[in-house]
Amino acid sequence: MRLKEDYNVAVDVAVDVEDLYKFFGNLKVLRGISTKVNKGEVIAIIGPSGSGKSTFLRCMNLLETPTSGKIYIDGVDITSRKCDIMKIRQNVGMVFQHFHLFPHMTVLDNVTYAPINVKHVDKAVARQEAMDLLTKVGLAEKADVYPSKLSGGQKQRVAIARSLAMKPQVMLFDEPTSALDPEMVKEVLEVMKDLTQTGITMAIVTHEMGFAREVAHRILFLDEGRLAEDATPQEFFNNPQCDRAKQFLEKML
Ligand code: ADP
Ligand code: MG
Repeated sequence: MRLKEDYNVAVDVAVDVEDLYKFFGNLKVLRGISTKVNKGEVIAIIGPSGSGKSTFLRCMNLLETPTSGKIYIDGVDITSRKCDIMKIRQNVGMVFQHFHLFPHMTVLDNVTYAPINVKHVDKAVARQEAMDLLTKVGLAEKADVYPSKLSGGQKQRVAIARSLAMKPQVMLFDEPTSALDPEMVKEVLEVMKDLTQTGITMAIVTHEMGFAREVAHRILFLDEGRLAEDATPQEFFNNPQCDRAKQFLEKML
């Protein structure tokens, strides 16, 4: 495990991104992103469609391999060839727009599958922890049903519980409410808001500006693969610095 030299002084940094580039062929999707996320910090990543938000998140758990640059999670260089991708993914949970639940498994089995099969947690312990998580997301009574019987909002809450079951240090959310009917957005945002109180580090790509403003400690505004703004919600929403952010906010608010 390679630790970054200065990590003994910066122990509270959960994610450290240094000059991250990602190209798909000739398409330069991420062009030199650098930022640090402290432990327990909640960041909202916003920006126009195609600006590289999903690619940025996906690099943080190696669903995409960065073209160049470094990403440290908890001081571990995940871009090093020696790093264990499975270990990183255990430590960095991800929730997608389209849930991706296992359709042939009950809700409970969805939540216990990875703890039991990847982490080798004792089955009874995994079930108890899963029931606790399902209780937290308000779905304990759905433990034995299959995902097809759930609403979109319920599916997404199960997906969050499933991700949390691995006890990750960092949670990534890629537009978790974008595929939901409007009446279900709130219940998912409520669960995420509760989560921000637990001290877990969160990076959330969202178009929910009110939510970002309320819960994020920091806003990252991406524009054409560059970090165009990195500001507090107050600074960003009240006084955006770049024209692209101004235009974006005019359309969104
Ligand atoms: P956002 O999430 O901000 O909408 P994305 O990160 O999904 O943006 O995509 C940024 C750009 O990268 C888009 O032009 C998209 O088409 C392109 N892109 C994303 N993933 C791939 C891929 N696997 N192969 C080729 N191009 C991709
Ligand atoms: Mg996206």
